[in-house]
Amino acid sequence: YLAYFEEKCPTSKRMTEDAAKVIPGGVQHNLAFNYPFPLAFTKASGAHLQDVDGNTYIDFLQAGGPTVLGSNPEPVRARVLDLLNTCGPCTGLFHEYEMKLARFICDRFSGVEMFRMLGSGTEACMAAVRVARVATKKKNIIKLGGAYHGWSDQLSYGNRIPGIRFLESHGIPMACFKYTQEVFPNDIEALEKQLKRNRLRGGTAAVFMEPMGPESGTRPLDFDYNGQVRDLCTAYGALLVFDEVVTAFRIGVDGAQGYFGITPDLTIFGKVVAGGYPSAGGIGGKADYMACLAGGLGGKKSKKAHVGGTMAANPLSAAAGYHTVKMIEETNACKTAGKAGDRLTQGLQKLIETYGLPFVAYNQGSICHLETVGTMLFDINLFRPWEIPSRIKEIHARKDVMTHMGAAYMAEGLVTLAGSRLYTSAADTDEIIDDALARFE
Ligand code: PMP
Repeated sequence: YLAYFEEKCPTSKRMTEDAAKVIPGGVQHNLAFNYPFPLAFTKASGAHLQDVDGNTYIDFLQAGGPTVLGSNPEPVRARVLDLLNTCGPCTGLFHEYEMKLARFICDRFSGVEMFRMLGSGTEACMAAVRVARVATKKKNIIKLGGAYHGWSDQLSYGNRIPGIRFLESHGIPMACFKYTQEVFPNDIEALEKQLKRNRLRGGTAAVFMEPMGPESGTRPLDFDYNGQVRDLCTAYGALLVFDEVVTAFRIGVDGAQGYFGITPDLTIFGKVVAGGYPSAGGIGGKADYMACLAGGLGGKKSKKAHVGGTMAANPLSAAAGYHTVKMIEETNACKTAGKAGDRLTQGLQKLIETYGLPFVAYNQGSICHLETVGTMLFDINLFRPWEIPSRIKEIHARKDVMTHMGAAYMAEGLVTLAGSRLYTSAADTDEIIDDALARFE
């Protein structure tokens, strides 16, 4: 691929080599570390991207998830530009769009009576830890093996690969994990055991989970699992935290909680909540729990938990978020994006069968996965944590396969998330999906 991309993308190569002198790795965003070198993009519109050398791509990265309507939809852009002309990007003071966005969310998410916007999904997860501890007066946080809830110290435990603590992140002292534990996804007995164990060590403040399964369903959950976790949280007085950073406004405008009919105590938002604009994060929950975020106002006797952010809920992000989620609802965009996901996944599955590839494609609406069988992360669901060290070679082999597949897709004009995840959007017409399938073939 090196020779191929050197010929096709010389400006990208030169720019990102120059950038590497002043930016670690040459790019600022984890999803942009493409193999064999990062590409520089200049245009994004709907379902397509264009790089600096003029090559065009079908965009299944969709910025990692925020752009359910496709990139840069004109109606949202027009509203944002109006606001920029009158108010500018930030004031640090209250703006009506904060209220409009909060009202929209509270009216639709069963687990959200109050909402506070923050700067990112990572920050929102950190806030949820704090709120859960104030609300329950308990200490421990349980998460599912391999789940990503941002890069804060206490939630980085076991990021991505269950049982392997430091695969993702050095620089976190073990003490940061004192009150964080991880249980194997789909093992409800293990969760109950951990909840019991925690009774003797400060109790469990919260169980964090993505309702579609860790890494947006890269490790899918049994259909009953969410409900079983809900029941255990209620029984043990722990808050159930749904991390809906990916799923909120993508699975539906009432989130995965609406899809499963399960009400969490706290909900984490990110990505679509600012419509692809900066400062995308938020926490929602029952009013009693959220009261501790009231700052100096209206917190009654509730204890205060401090969260902040200079840019949090700036008018631009709140307005972009509000107009985006409103347009998603009005145009039924989650359904359109989901249908595109179905068409793409079914087409990929057909190619896999036709060519007898050791791959599997599956999707949940517009969240699509294309995994290798045998070396897939998905298989980790079948491993116990103590088996993982002996299978580490397989896990790394999977990463290598996906890196090379990602480069192969890119060479055909297909941008994916690390060669194994694809987000569709409402901008993906049947023609675009069919064009993509021809390129995959
Ligand atoms: N939770 C989940 C499930 C995520 O997918 C992500 C981001 N990929 C985060 C939290 C962190 O969000 P952010 O990147 O906005 O900090």
